Amino acid sequence: MSRFWSARVHTLTPYVPGEQPKRRDLVKLNTNECPYGPSPLALAAIRDATDDSLRLYPDPTSTRLREALARHHRVTPDQVFVGNGSDEVLAHIFQGLLQQDAPLLFPDITYSFYPVYCGLYGIGYETVALDEDLRVRIEDYRRPCGAIILANPNAPTGIALELEQIERLLEEHPDQPVVIDEAYVDFGGQSAVTLIARHPNLLVVQTLSKSRALAGLRVGSAIGAVALIEALVRVKDSFNSYPLDRLAEAGATAAIDDEDWFEETRARIMQSRDRLSDGLRRQGFEVLPSSANFLFARHPHQSGAGLHASLRARGVLVRHFTVSRIVDYLRISIGTDAECEALLTALAGIL
Ligand code: PMP
Repeated sequence: MSRFWSARVHTLTPYVPGEQPKRRDLVKLNTNECPYGPSPLALAAIRDATDDSLRLYPDPTSTRLREALARHHRVTPDQVFVGNGSDEVLAHIFQGLLQQDAPLLFPDITYSFYPVYCGLYGIGYETVALDEDLRVRIEDYRRPCGAIILANPNAPTGIALELEQIERLLEEHPDQPVVIDEAYVDFGGQSAVTLIARHPNLLVVQTLSKSRALAGLRVGSAIGAVALIEALVRVKDSFNSYPLDRLAEAGATAAIDDEDWFEETRARIMQSRDRLSDGLRRQGFEVLPSSANFLFARHPHQSGAGLHASLRARGVLVRHFTVSRIVDYLRISIGTDAECEALLTALAGIL
């Protein structure tokens, strides 16, 4: 703290990112990254873009990448917005599309950046409890609000909503923006992008950090009606007209175009997830049904904090959660099969 801080900075409660340890020998299953390297075509495109052209500013409209995303999602490029990770895209959404005089609704619990942005941009919010199975209940969102944001699949539970449930929500709130954060949708969820043509209030947010293995490049997107995208462009151009650098745009474009790598990698992760889920259940864990690249699990006789610490002592990093009604849960990112095996072996030594 310092007397030079503005009064507003004193009021902020920043997001605390997961640990990124310097040690390379840890089995790192704590921040939902992809355990495999990115598409070789993406790496080659980044290398090719590493030349004298870096002295020039990048394309402020990231047109090549937006065109690639538009092809992938079967929309038009003017329905696509890109930014530095979906966190930045979300920041622009919170600033450009959410009202300050009616509350934003989101579940308790969900991605913990949402309340942080509400604090930063002065947006009021109300949380809606998950049901007893830790699922989002669409009926509970039938109340006056300014907007709704749902992560689908939800984080950190990994549980996905059906598309019909999202469509029902959109129909019940035709006058409010509904934001669906699909950071984890490529691991078994159904994308709401197909609903965009019918619902001008829908904005879908995606990222290249998980299913494209490019968390380090920081690229995310929003897809929706042109009028919503225009609001985000206005915010971007009032903040940083060049959010994506030349290397990020080149790598991300090649990554989106590499459908073979994408299909193979996400299938591999889903297979490892199902195997790890079986292994954890055999060790007595209750494991929620996951459509994401992580599992949310608790052991009926062990504290989450205790398991987290014992695993860390054995070189395995996971996250543990005790918030609201969520007590003693571990969130375990899906690693390679060898990493998942290392986790199960470490647990066998602890339990
Ligand atoms: N949404 C959700 C639900 C997430 O879990 C994350 C990653 N922690 C993000 C958005 C942000 O991802 P990124 O900024 O890497 O695109």
